[in-house]
Amino acid sequence: MNENAVKFFAETDLPRIMKKLYSANNLMEAHIVLDMLEHALIPAQLFNQHAQGGMGDIPFTHAYPEVWVIRDEDYERGRRIVQHYETMPQSNQVISCPTCGEENPVNFQLCWQCGNGLEKISSQTP
Ligand SMILES: [Zn+2]
Repeated sequence: MNENAVKFFAETDLPRIMKKLYSANNLMEAHIVLDMLEHALIPAQLFNQHAQGGMGDIPFTHAYPEVWVIRDEDYERGRRIVQHYETMPQSNQVISCPTCGEENPVNFQLCWQCGNGLEKISSQTP
């Protein structure tokens, strides 16, 4: 057994400096926040994205999708973005992805689920 290898794995397993920024109520909210962070050039990671998979074989848990910032120094800036998001008037406007049918915020250009381009469905607007 190589001691250095063990040490290496032990160290990389540690969630060193990542911080949880936001617990979303649903995956779409998580992706809205992720999108805002991305525009602010803040690297972030989404966890528990399969917590609400709806496959039926996974018992419901209270695990919500979580957005974590990768770098510690982004945390304060990220918090302000989340606060800004939470104080924004929540729009109920969503568009359905023409490819996979998943709902996306109207300002998204790519589906967060499948990554395909979203087209505004003109039949929904008078
Ligand atoms: Zn899609």
